[in-house]
Amino acid sequence: MSYLPAGIPAPRPTVDDAPFWAACQEQRLVIRHCEACSRFFHPPMPCCPRCGSFDVAWKPVSGQGSIYTWTVGHQAIHPALKDHGPYNVCVILLDDADDVRLVTNVVDVAPEELRIGLPVAVCFEEAGDGTLLPRFRRADEQGERQQ
Ligand SMILES: [Zn+2]
Repeated sequence: MSYLPAGIPAPRPTVDDAPFWAACQEQRLVIRHCEACSRFFHPPMPCCPRCGSFDVAWKPVSGQGSIYTWTVGHQAIHPALKDHGPYNVCVILLDDADDVRLVTNVVDVAPEELRIGLPVAVCFEEAGDGTLLPRFRRADEQGERQQ
């Protein structure tokens, strides 16, 4: 079962992010990487937002990260969310992709247990139309970064 109910529109890949979504369908997380300045960036673009180089590639990342920030929605902003309980929208800072952050949902943490720094790991959930979306689950606390 998916975190959000069926009926939420699935992503429509563009020429720039199609490889990201294609990797998700194989349950892999890949992030755009600049070969010139050796930095990850997201969302994907044809060139590096820092140095302007077009020497960019896709690199796999571990899918480990932590909650950078979050919010909890109580309003049905889409008809599919009518009668659906509160849901979180989380920004995840990836452990091994520089400062790349993904907007997603954490699927197994109650709203009152969400906190900045909570370690999470990627999982893939079907969006209802067969599309797999990257979402996150609570990870072993051992994985939490030392301050
Ligand atoms: Zn660059």
